[in-house]
Amino acid sequence: MNFSDSEIVASVMTEDNYSTTTNQLEADVIFLNTCSIRDNAEQRVLNRLKQLQPLRKKNPGLIIGVLGCMAERMKSALLEEAELGMRVDMVVGPDSYRDLPQLMLDAESGHKAINIILSSEETYADITPVRFASNGVSAFISIMRGCENFCSYCVVPFTRGKERSRDPQTIYGEALQLFESGYREITLLGQNVNSYHWEAADDSHTTFPKLLEKIAAISPLLRVRFATSHPKDLSDELISAIAQYPNICKAIHLPIQSGSTSVLSRMNRKYTADSYMNRVEAIRKAIPDCAISTDIITGFCGETDQEFSETLSVMEEARFDFAFMFKYSEREGTLAAKKLTDDIPDEVKADRLQQVIRLQQKLSLASNKRDVGSLAEVLIEGHSKRSKLHVSGRSSHNKVVVFPDNGYKPGQYAMVKITSCTAATLIGEAIEVK
Ligand code: SAH
Ligand code: SF4
Repeated sequence: MNFSDSEIVASVMTEDNYSTTTNQLEADVIFLNTCSIRDNAEQRVLNRLKQLQPLRKKNPGLIIGVLGCMAERMKSALLEEAELGMRVDMVVGPDSYRDLPQLMLDAESGHKAINIILSSEETYADITPVRFASNGVSAFISIMRGCENFCSYCVVPFTRGKERSRDPQTIYGEALQLFESGYREITLLGQNVNSYHWEAADDSHTTFPKLLEKIAAISPLLRVRFATSHPKDLSDELISAIAQYPNICKAIHLPIQSGSTSVLSRMNRKYTADSYMNRVEAIRKAIPDCAISTDIITGFCGETDQEFSETLSVMEEARFDFAFMFKYSEREGTLAAKKLTDDIPDEVKADRLQQVIRLQQKLSLASNKRDVGSLAEVLIEGHSKRSKLHVSGRSSHNKVVVFPDNGYKPGQYAMVKITSCTAATLIGEAIEVK
């Protein structure tokens, strides 16, 4: 999501005659695009801001700006030099990127600049993102912004505002343009893509499955992925769209957060452990080999040993292929911070986190072992990080596959025979490359 926002920022700035650089010593403006999801994400930003301050000695006109969620959450507190212990020149919320050129004028004339107004309409639909850090093969397209689910632990509805969907014509146009310029994989992004909805002037409706099909129909050579699906809204219609199109990737990210129905209720997730498993079964029935990944939070308010053990059981039952796992981090202003007590000691949160990580490693390894001996269609992204003699790409199941290079190019599809694996990677040999 943030990456996608940075591409919009780069576009707005480029239009205003700035250019991007990968060398911070060369930069006259440095923006940090921030996330407030967990406290440690914010701490990292504050550390980074501190590290950047000495650059002002060499370049006294240097402008440092904080963009995105943290700007929205901390507001003008980020401009209080004495309290923060350092100087920040600009604070710009996620719906104010169009205002950057104007804010730059203020900052360049030595004034601190701030715009943190949230919008109920802004989707940046007409802005073509500048793909400045792209591998030229895969790209993200933001299809909606904001969130109104108000999961009790989550700061997103407060930092990114109301949920709004983007005009499907502009999404289609962006996807087509990417395909025509050589991209082969697109990930459609939103906090809850299943609630994507657009009503056109002629009263026609576009739902998420329809949008997905429209993008998949651009070309069989274009892979389509999406994130994130809220389990309460994952429809049978969506599952059948994924089953029907070979180029809609067979990988669904379906964050469970907890395997305990009572914890889920305190989290305000609006599904039970049983209804979650019902969705997993519906996916497995329609798409037997579909990969399912998840997000898990350990140590949420009041989580008992019994409730935590239910998370471990559901993980085994669902056989997740991959998971992002976090310790609960209380966020000011959220429903949990107001109404529940963050009463699980940090050591217990950390110990439970280690237990879920260990179990997930076992599940990921088992999932990868099931693939050994099979063929995977891999979209080549580039050289493997570890060896120039190997290329790396992803399977439809979103697994990283590494195999010996034979002069292949990013963007080519390879049929790869999987010969071995680790918990994180599949290793194989190309049989055919298109
Ligand atoms: N919209 C997505 C999630 C976006 S945030 C969804 O509903 O699935 C990404 C993940 O961060 C969440 O799934 C959750 O696991 C984690 N997260 C969010 N708030 C958190 C908090 N306060 N503490 C710890 N993890 C959190
Ligand atoms: Fe946060 Fe819940 Fe919205 Fe996801 S769905 S962004 S977890 S409030």
